[in-house]
Amino acid sequence: MKNVGVAYHEFYEKHDTGYHPERAERVIHTKNQLEELDLFGDGHKSHFHTIIPRLAELTEIQWCHSPQLIEKIQQLSTRAQKWDELLFTDGTYGDTIISGSSFTAARYAIGGNFQAIDDIMSQKIDRSFVLCRPPGHHANNTEARGFCFFNNIILAAEYLIHKWGLKKVAIIDFDAHAGNGSEEILNNRNAEGEILFFSIHQHPATLYPGTCFVDEIGEGKQRGKTVNLTVLPYSGQKCIQNLFNQIINPMMEEFKPEFILVSAGYDSHHADTLTAMGLMDQTYSFIIQELAKMSSKFAKNRIQCTLEGGYNLVAIGNSIANTINALAEDNVIFVEDDNYDESQKGIEFTMNQLIPELQDHLKPFWSTF
Ligand SMILES: [Zn+2]
Repeated sequence: MKNVGVAYHEFYEKHDTGYHPERAERVIHTKNQLEELDLFGDGHKSHFHTIIPRLAELTEIQWCHSPQLIEKIQQLSTRAQKWDELLFTDGTYGDTIISGSSFTAARYAIGGNFQAIDDIMSQKIDRSFVLCRPPGHHANNTEARGFCFFNNIILAAEYLIHKWGLKKVAIIDFDAHAGNGSEEILNNRNAEGEILFFSIHQHPATLYPGTCFVDEIGEGKQRGKTVNLTVLPYSGQKCIQNLFNQIINPMMEEFKPEFILVSAGYDSHHADTLTAMGLMDQTYSFIIQELAKMSSKFAKNRIQCTLEGGYNLVAIGNSIANTINALAEDNVIFVEDDNYDESQKGIEFTMNQLIPELQDHLKPFWSTF
């Protein structure tokens, strides 16, 4: 059994988006469910721990974001607070809403990731889940977008490199939407350390943000270290298993990450109406089990998940419970009927087109191919 910490802060509920899919109920419902299952909170089992998030410093946020973006988010949030209204960060009719508490919430979301890393690196816990809002993986160096202000996951990777001196960090993003902000920040990155970035997402021709195709493998220093695993709608768990067997695990074996970070987005669940990837409750257990094997081989068991999307409350509650129990290496809690929404077309595309194309693009950079 592994010791697992869950980070939660009341400000994760206070980031007010009004009538919007990315809403406070997502984390409130999930926290309640985790407490009921004895995975978080008072009276939890001995191997579950509470992480108290701190505020991220503005200088830390600048590892990934321009001072102009940070100032803009701070000013918009202050204005929203003053007039007690909700504003958009991306034009009058955008999709990224900011409230009076949002800037502080965003700093606690980043700081929750930092504190969880400190707790892992100082060996208080082995692994963690940061149950935070706002999410981060669509935010790039200069833009807040797609419900995201600052990129929590890349900031977490920078924290591991700058504060803890690690050299190799791997990130897996399994949100149904591509981690386009993460990809773009990594393309502009010149700092020390190596970040291997996998984004498993629904094919960008069928879903926001419409970028991060299979031939985008990183630019500059990042070339060969960004991997876009673009599955067709209704691909389901079998595709994910094949992608781990043939792409992710062999690359992990060669890369030997010292820490594994996860952009944990649960809109890839079949019950999520915004998307159509077709994953099941137990698919998230499977993903963590695969990463756990790699973490025990190379990363002293260190895995940290941070919440991204996921808008069906029942699905995220069950799937996050499965994720956390898998981090602890305990039994799978929620198991659905097999092969939900899985299409033969999706499996054939993954096996006959996606995997060979990925191997082709990555071959010059990885001896495993
Ligand atoms: Zn998403």
